[in-house]
Amino acid sequence: MPQQVQGVIARAKGEPVSVETIVVPDPGPGEAVVAVQACGVCHTDLHYREGGINDEFPFLLGHEAAGTVESVGEGVTDVAPGDYVILNWRAVCGQCRSCLKGKPQYCFATHNATQKMTLEDGTELSPALGIGAFAEKTLVAAGQCTKVDPAAKPEVAGLLGCGVMAGIGAAMNTGEVGRGDTVAVFGCGGVGNAALEGSRLAGASKIIAVDIDDQKLEWAKEFGATHTVNSTREDAVERIRELTDGNGVDVAIEAIGLPQTYEQAFYARDLAGTVVLVGVPSPEMKVELPFIEIFGRGGSLKSSWYGDCLPSRDFPMLIDLYLQDRLNLGGFVSETIALDQVEAAFHKMEDGGVLRSVVVL
Ligand SMILES: [Zn+2]
Ligand SMILES: [Zn+2]
Repeated sequence: MPQQVQGVIARAKGEPVSVETIVVPDPGPGEAVVAVQACGVCHTDLHYREGGINDEFPFLLGHEAAGTVESVGEGVTDVAPGDYVILNWRAVCGQCRSCLKGKPQYCFATHNATQKMTLEDGTELSPALGIGAFAEKTLVAAGQCTKVDPAAKPEVAGLLGCGVMAGIGAAMNTGEVGRGDTVAVFGCGGVGNAALEGSRLAGASKIIAVDIDDQKLEWAKEFGATHTVNSTREDAVERIRELTDGNGVDVAIEAIGLPQTYEQAFYARDLAGTVVLVGVPSPEMKVELPFIEIFGRGGSLKSSWYGDCLPSRDFPMLIDLYLQDRLNLGGFVSETIALDQVEAAFHKMEDGGVLRSVVVL
């Protein structure tokens, strides 16, 4: 029987979100219904609400979630009712050209549920990133459920489902930060701090955090920054060179998505170093760089999508490290809130006062 539950809906561009009754179908072949226990509020949810991603309103928002599998459809063998899972938006297909090359972390045909959740009047909902987890229950593809150790609290575990994984993966997977490397991270919000944390975990020797907000730079120290630079007071590139014997860092990670900070990252890296872009730019932005510098400096300019993560490989491993106190995931949770406080959480996020508000159900 389809179930009626409460969910957070964005009905139209720029309008405040509202809690409404939604209808969740029974899982069909390859699908699962998950009882959501916690879901973090991410900038991407706000981008959906603002019409910045597409026009397929109404949206069921929320996508950084952990919960318990309630029921599964035909043919589902990887997860079973009762399993504690983190939801992911990279359920790999196993058949696309990237999967066939042995690189499922870039899968070009990821799975979502095929049935639609709806409003009571039958209007189909577009779930954010194919998840839609600001809801008591949600319908996903079974491959979007990744089992992890239930000892990790849901408000902490769920954050790995998007922003925190993007940051950790930008350092560990895309940037391939290694033992002894020097790293600079531009932008110390949730993703940037996760990139600092990932660099620490990878054994980086110097981890330099750059931001324009002293408060955020203080937070950055709790996530592994060994040095901080306020770029309103100092030239970030000069300071990073000073801190690295005049050379620049091995890996420079841009976690904002702005041309100015991307340029800083480009010039703050050592010869043959790596620039990683994990911040999300707007469509109208352009970068202008001297072509000869792109050639002459060697190394690589990479983009990191969801931290190039493979959820089945990375989520359980990172949860284990968290449970061993080797990864500061708890530090990302600024506050826990109820379903009807998502709109207020958007405003706090815009003011920069929180790393993550997390809805707990
Ligand atoms: Zn694939
Ligand atoms: Zn997100």
